[in-house]
Amino acid sequence: MAEPSTRDDAKPAAPSGRPQLKVWAARVRASSDAPANMRRVILEIPGAEQFSYEPGQAMVVMVPLADGTVGRRDYTIRALDRAAGTIAIDILKHGETPGPAWAIAAKPGDTIEIKGPRGKTVFSPRADWHLLTGDETCIPAIAHILETMPAGTKAHVFIEVDTPADEIKLETRAELSLVWLHRNGAPAGPGNLMSDAVAEFELPAGRGQAYIIGETSNVRRQRQDLVARGLSREQILSEGYWRPGRIGGHDHVDD
Ligand SMILES: Cc1cc2nc3c(=O)[nH]c(=O)nc-3n(C[C@H](O)[C@H](O)[C@H](O)COP(=O)(O)OP(=O)(O)OC[C@H]3O[C@@H](n4cnc5c(N)ncnc54)[C@H](O)[C@@H]3O)c2cc1C
Repeated sequence: MAEPSTRDDAKPAAPSGRPQLKVWAARVRASSDAPANMRRVILEIPGAEQFSYEPGQAMVVMVPLADGTVGRRDYTIRALDRAAGTIAIDILKHGETPGPAWAIAAKPGDTIEIKGPRGKTVFSPRADWHLLTGDETCIPAIAHILETMPAGTKAHVFIEVDTPADEIKLETRAELSLVWLHRNGAPAGPGNLMSDAVAEFELPAGRGQAYIIGETSNVRRQRQDLVARGLSREQILSEGYWRPGRIGGHDHVDD
């Protein structure tokens, strides 16, 4: 289980405006296909005994680009094995783009620079119930948050995938209500599938905490709906993980 950590996003920003993240010289231990159309890469990190993060946080992976430079891609920390000195990341094979291309080609001994951890979409215990939503790219975050939630936590989860074959088994001690949404061949991206499901979700009594991640416009629509239904902005942790045409990076969704 992850240990408490400071959030590196809170550190003073670098001159570029980006938070100064710790840099790690990682080495590939293994790379193999994983459920939900993912490629799992196991990375050795020097000083793993000092590595701390909160489930839901991500690393910025400096993946090679076709022009010989490197580009930033965010991938959730799926697991930390402190004894083995490794972290695992799961990369969705959504297309022939730099992230999945690197993951598929990665072989033991390859080196890669990673930065982090970063991200604020992490478990907040001060709530009576929790709502987590996202598409495939969010399965690593949702799965890891769920498996580290305290027993008895009330978790309502919606995950959008293409077909039932993309569903995975989720481990948790939480009281889990889980709904898989299927696009059934429609492309991933902007759409009403998730926002309609969340709009129909009856908010339970008590204080809620929502974690809304995925394609940016889908995240924004859900956030605005939840705000309109009375959740305060602090009760909604949200981040756009990707959007059509956007290359790497992430979108802050706090409007
Ligand atoms: C905090 C955070 C955590 C994340 N965790 C994960 C994770 O654990 N696993 C994971 O797979 N992704 C994760 N993502 C999303 C991932 O960073 C993006 O999908 C990233 O753009 C992928 O890079 P790429 O090289 O494949 O494509 P890019 O070069 O960035 O983009 C090329 C094209 O592909 C499109 N594209 C990018 N992602 C997708 C997608 N998922 N589906 C369809 N089209 C897409 C872009 O919009 C663009 O048009 C995370 C993002 C954030 C911000």
